[in-house]
Amino acid sequence: MEKIVIAIDGPAGAGKTTIAKELAKKLDIPYFSTGSMYRALALKCINNNLDPESEETANYIAENTKIALKYENGLQYVILDGVDVTNKLYTDKVSEGASKISVHPVVRQKLVKLQRETANSQSVIMDGRDIGSNVLPMANYKFYLDANVEIRAKRRFDELIKKGSNVTFEEVLADMKDRDYRDKNRKVSPLVVCEDAIVIDSSNLTIDEVINEFFKYIGGK
Ligand code: C5P
Repeated sequence: MEKIVIAIDGPAGAGKTTIAKELAKKLDIPYFSTGSMYRALALKCINNNLDPESEETANYIAENTKIALKYENGLQYVILDGVDVTNKLYTDKVSEGASKISVHPVVRQKLVKLQRETANSQSVIMDGRDIGSNVLPMANYKFYLDANVEIRAKRRFDELIKKGSNVTFEEVLADMKDRDYRDKNRKVSPLVVCEDAIVIDSSNLTIDEVINEFFKYIGGK
């Protein structure tokens, strides 16, 4: 098969991870979540009591962190300073920290370099906020997966309730709006819809319907 690079961008909760994993399985190519890398740096801030909003923290993190991605048997692993932290990355505290640490140019430069290297030598599906616009502008396909913010918050709220959380819908919605604001308004590589991106709105679609939409463009399988 020829090398294929697929970029998927969009706001939190639009379904990027679910869709990217499914596409990766169907196309039999690796999937890399760039958000997981920003999350790993946020975890390091939390573990070391560092403020992710401070420039001093950003410089320290950029200079003193080893981060690596591994893809094995259909699963991605994130290795932070030699330790596999994959299972520690999906908490609300880490989400918030990731959206704060990711505004710093010095941090983005470091991670973007690794993301480009990862896509250089192999077919990939990569998701994030700036993949089509900045990380992989030459991607074969650029998708922007969107959904109404209330619907994205409701999906996240349902997930949290299932896990036993007692968070309110209003809290989840407010967090989602904060993250959207930071992602869309930061100075470096904000979340934008690229001119050449295919926009898919998942608000009223099932997962299978979204996958079908993607395959209308990619073709096959
Ligand atoms: O995609 P995910 O929700 O895991 O990303 C966590 C956070 O990392 C996002 O809210 C965003 O602030 C940041 N991020 C980014 N650029 C990317 C991927 C994620 O700024 N390419």
